[in-house]
Amino acid sequence: MTQPTQRRSVANKARKKRDALLLLNLVLLILIITGGLFLWKEYRAQPNQASTPKISQVSQSTSSKEAKDSSSTSKAKENIKWVKQDQPIKLPILMYHAIHDMAPSEAANAGLIVSPATFESHLKALKEAGYYTLSPDEAYKALTENVLPENKKIIWLTFDDSLKDFYTQAYPILQKYQMKATNNVITGFVQAGREDILTLEEIKEMKQNGMSFEDHTVNHPDLSVSSPDAQNSELQDSKQFLDSNLSQTTTTVAYPSGRYSETTMQIAEKLGYKMGLTTNNGLASLSDGLLSLNRVRVNPTTTAQSLLDEIRN
Ligand SMILES: [Zn+2]
Repeated sequence: MTQPTQRRSVANKARKKRDALLLLNLVLLILIITGGLFLWKEYRAQPNQASTPKISQVSQSTSSKEAKDSSSTSKAKENIKWVKQDQPIKLPILMYHAIHDMAPSEAANAGLIVSPATFESHLKALKEAGYYTLSPDEAYKALTENVLPENKKIIWLTFDDSLKDFYTQAYPILQKYQMKATNNVITGFVQAGREDILTLEEIKEMKQNGMSFEDHTVNHPDLSVSSPDAQNSELQDSKQFLDSNLSQTTTTVAYPSGRYSETTMQIAEKLGYKMGLTTNNGLASLSDGLLSLNRVRVNPTTTAQSLLDEIRN
């Protein structure tokens, strides 16, 4: 009796062992399949995971590059925030000619000569009073869009006749106060190489350092009594000289001795001038017409205080 029982129990044990092995294999198989599926999923997921950060890196570097670009551009524009005004803007456009200490022999031209010391007192007072000096483009923007730089007053410093002392006297003082100015050039005098007139090299050097150069005709004639043809060539030839030699689009003409007519303005407009400067005394405003803008004449006796009083608006 014991033997068959023993045999059965042995067979039982063997079956149990086989079942356990089978179960173990089954578990292993499930583990392998699950693991395989998991790895396969991981593998498939990897290319996506790898490309996702790549895209975000690209977009990040692009956006940081854009940020850099825009900051450098705005830096070049001196970070000016232009603010729209309710009332029409009145712009003081100062008119200077020569800046040097007058010699007794120059008494006849005394009205056009301001001493360097007086000129410096003007710039110092303007700086302290919060004035910002405009370029021709900025003057055009201020007048046509009726905007001002935030928390600043505006002024446009102009000099007529491209005199040598603009380089030797005025320019170093302008640089000292970090202010910019516009000189209206008599192009025929520059081309003739006159000793008392700026050279093209001096003009180019100053232009690189923030000064601007606009038009004052070829020969400084009285345009109001010149024929339309003569006016046309005076305004066209000088503009072409400045445009090509200074790689710019000249926008402004100062009429010689402030002499001009309706015909002069029509010709200037046709040739592409956007602004015309007169010698009519007063603050400039859009309502006077962009081709007949007033200026404020600066005399040898103009003190810093009288200047501030005159341009207050
Ligand atoms: Zn002049």
